[in-house]
Amino acid sequence: MDQSKISTENLESFNDTLLTLLECPICTEFMSPPIFQCKNGHKLCAECKPLLTECPSCKEKNLDSRNFVAEELAEKLMYPCVNVDAGCQIKIQLNSMAKHSAVCPHRLHNCLESSCKWQGRTQEMLEHLKGTHNMAWMTAANPHLYYDNFDLSTDFEEHDAIDAFEELFLFHFKRDATKRRLFVAVQYVGSEEAAMNYRYQVFILSADGAKWVDFVSSTHKDTVSFEEIMNSKKCLCVDFEVIEDLLDTDLNLKFKINLSDLKNSAIINTDM
Ligand SMILES: [Zn+2]
Ligand SMILES: [Zn+2]
Ligand SMILES: [Zn+2]
Ligand SMILES: [Zn+2]
Repeated sequence: MDQSKISTENLESFNDTLLTLLECPICTEFMSPPIFQCKNGHKLCAECKPLLTECPSCKEKNLDSRNFVAEELAEKLMYPCVNVDAGCQIKIQLNSMAKHSAVCPHRLHNCLESSCKWQGRTQEMLEHLKGTHNMAWMTAANPHLYYDNFDLSTDFEEHDAIDAFEELFLFHFKRDATKRRLFVAVQYVGSEEAAMNYRYQVFILSADGAKWVDFVSSTHKDTVSFEEIMNSKKCLCVDFEVIEDLLDTDLNLKFKINLSDLKNSAIINTDM
């Protein structure tokens, strides 16, 4: 056996040992550059330094030196994701952290309602949307899903939650009077890879059900905004000429959505 070979586990525990050397003695977070020290070499993180008038270890007043060895070490080591307490197991170098944080499945989400200040994790989001905003209509049978008074001369937007397969999906609907187009998209809230495991199908139907437009796609990842999805035309995107043909005389727009869990061959739809 090759004794000189270092296993991944050993490397990881070596990384973690080195990382503990970069723990700030005040806030106990792992420090990232700039890393400061007192004149005698006691380390301090950049967040704690402005709060101190003297070194907590030796009472030295001059805390302005940088520790470049610690900074270089910090750039080489693998840090736990900032969402480690929320369950993220990823360890990553600091220069890749921002890129990961933006797509981390355990990151904080803003509420669907733009005026709401709530922020929370995926698991708490459905509870919030249901409790505070009375969202999530997909859970119950709703055979008569339609928009009434569908006036094509004005803009209209609706965002809602879909509670299906014990997962959270976001439903986006926009009538854009300037572009003269209707857009519908369904996003999966969670990891980017898992969005591929679900498929949505939208039908826009005439009142008698004789004519319709339909669209099918994998659910969109929630790291891309609805705005970007619309611009890329990767969602349902129908010209008003077609919509005019489907509206009944009372301007009712009838529609239907199917959502499929591809891995478990399960399907949920609005007219169950
Ligand atoms: Zn600190
Ligand atoms: Zn000191
Ligand atoms: Zn993460
Ligand atoms: Zn909210």
